[in-house]
Amino acid sequence: EQIPVLTIDGPSGAGKGTAARLVAESLGWHLLDSGAIYRVLAVATQHHHIDVVEEEPLIPIAAHLDVQFEISEEGESRIILEGEDVTRSIRAEEISALASKVAAFPRVREALLRRQRAFRVAPGLVADGRDMGTVVFTDAPVKVFLTASAEERAERRFKQLKEKGFDVKITRLLEDIRARDERDQNRSVAPLVPAEDALVVDSTELSIEEVVQQILNFAQDKL
Ligand code: C5P
Repeated sequence: EQIPVLTIDGPSGAGKGTAARLVAESLGWHLLDSGAIYRVLAVATQHHHIDVVEEEPLIPIAAHLDVQFEISEEGESRIILEGEDVTRSIRAEEISALASKVAAFPRVREALLRRQRAFRVAPGLVADGRDMGTVVFTDAPVKVFLTASAEERAERRFKQLKEKGFDVKITRLLEDIRARDERDQNRSVAPLVPAEDALVVDSTELSIEEVVQQILNFAQDKL
């Protein structure tokens, strides 16, 4: 019997991160934030002074990425890259853009497959990203595609970053989101599309509680 996976894919800022965390808590399952892996890789390229222009130099970095996902004594999740706490720095806008660039290279994605699949541990996994249901966990019994309008997503990102103390402009965020959508949707490998068997949830007009409830209801039917 395979360990169950619930995948949540969708564009940036649709609320996947929060929804995935709440769904995982509710089910008592593990959580994979796959975007964090691409973000960590983006930071690693900076550490190693590698320009993200061609694929070749990125492969060894992706394959040997020295990253740890930890839970601190206070119960906070922390991400450690090469001994350095990057939990906060990987969320910067500059890193969002760089992550989507490294993520466009097919062999980079392939080098990260095994690392992502290793998160599939009993009693189950909630995995959020762009290709969780279409590439990484194609056999997942429950697949969700969570989306929202670009304007709404920019608005949410704006609030989030403000709270974290980042100084940002909303018009700039909207531009960034559109550019990132464009790259994520049109890349040749693992483009951002709903899996055929995914429940599509548009969260533009929904609260996070409503989103989580829809996902849990859907999961209950499938599991
Ligand atoms: O989800 P998050 O915004 O943290 O992801 C950062 C970037 O990593 C995305 O813009 C996307 O290009 C890439 N990504 C991906 N596949 C995933 C998760 C993230 O290509 N499964």
